[in-house]
Amino acid sequence: VYNFSAGPAVLPVPVLEQVRDEMLCLPGVGASILEISHRGAAFTQIIESAEANLRKLLDISDDYAVLFIQGGSRLQFSMVPMNFIGEHGANPGKSGDYLITGSWGKQALEEAVKVGPCRAVYNSKATNFDRLPAPFCAGEATPQYSDDAAFVHYTCNETIQGVQFPGEPETGGIPLVCDASSDFLHRKLDVSKYGLIYACAQKNAGPAGVTIVIVKKDLVASASDSLPVYCNYNTHIEANSLNNTPPTFAIYVVQLVTQWLLDTYGSLDAVHKNNAQKAKLLYDLLDESPDFYQGHAQPECRSLMNVAFRLPSEDLTAAFLSGGKQHGLTDLKGHRSVGGIRASIYNAMPIAGVETLRDYMVDFRNQHAG
Ligand code: PLP
Repeated sequence: VYNFSAGPAVLPVPVLEQVRDEMLCLPGVGASILEISHRGAAFTQIIESAEANLRKLLDISDDYAVLFIQGGSRLQFSMVPMNFIGEHGANPGKSGDYLITGSWGKQALEEAVKVGPCRAVYNSKATNFDRLPAPFCAGEATPQYSDDAAFVHYTCNETIQGVQFPGEPETGGIPLVCDASSDFLHRKLDVSKYGLIYACAQKNAGPAGVTIVIVKKDLVASASDSLPVYCNYNTHIEANSLNNTPPTFAIYVVQLVTQWLLDTYGSLDAVHKNNAQKAKLLYDLLDESPDFYQGHAQPECRSLMNVAFRLPSEDLTAAFLSGGKQHGLTDLKGHRSVGGIRASIYNAMPIAGVETLRDYMVDFRNQHAG
């Protein structure tokens, strides 16, 4: 089947095959990845290679640390404010500004206000999170940042609403913090524009269990030792992500996925081109049939990863989902806050899967449009 789940998502088939082949015994090691010490030579090579691949794909300079942390992106909702503005953070008493363009940004802010003064400087809730601030969406407000903001947080791809920033918001020099969970590695980012990027692996980078954090070291260096050890970025920076037992299997798969990206595409620009081509197949069809398929996101901020749209009725939505299953197209149900359909088409979704979905959508429309 083609699995359009928003996450955990499809992994590249060659990666799954390699995991299967190596599960009992890693080549040259004589034991399974599940059994070897995280401090031994074999795992050291794996984690170093995962980091090196990420540095190569994203051109990450040495003033940034690349960390592998547990707790999912939700832990980052708390760790970011703890390290930046909390009472033991690098800038105690300062504040955090949030751009709220969907459900995940909203939840990030709900956690952040428990730590320190944080507020929304843009919020598209009134239109059920279908748009972005200016200049990305014309006519929308331009965020006015707080004088004492120590960071600006945004979610570059809102997984539930299918709303994606095509580039970075301008912050006038305030460090930019990005939840890149659902579009990490789908295109090249200019990491130097960011203070911190975090992304749980289970969309584009690997299995659930590890979250990748790329952080400019000097921004968090002065956070105090009074922070809980695990929640202090400096702990992970100093211990090369080996302070406690890391999620070894998940990091191993991240190494394989990043290697697959390098071997298959060579660069994230090529990955992006492929993703744009896949998404266009679906958005062109929405534009062709606006009375039947209504896209959720405004056209300027359509996500290349999560394509959310509605059909004219609940009955048609149910029929679309059950017919889709019969065509081997699964996990297409939209989130309840948006309704309708959501097709998640991450890096590992082959173009053939998207073409099969597009063809099914055309047939379904031709059968049911009034
Ligand atoms: N942020 C975004 C944009 C997400 O899509 C998700 C999960 O889907 C999360 C945060 C939460 O990630 P986790 O389940 O790893 O905590």
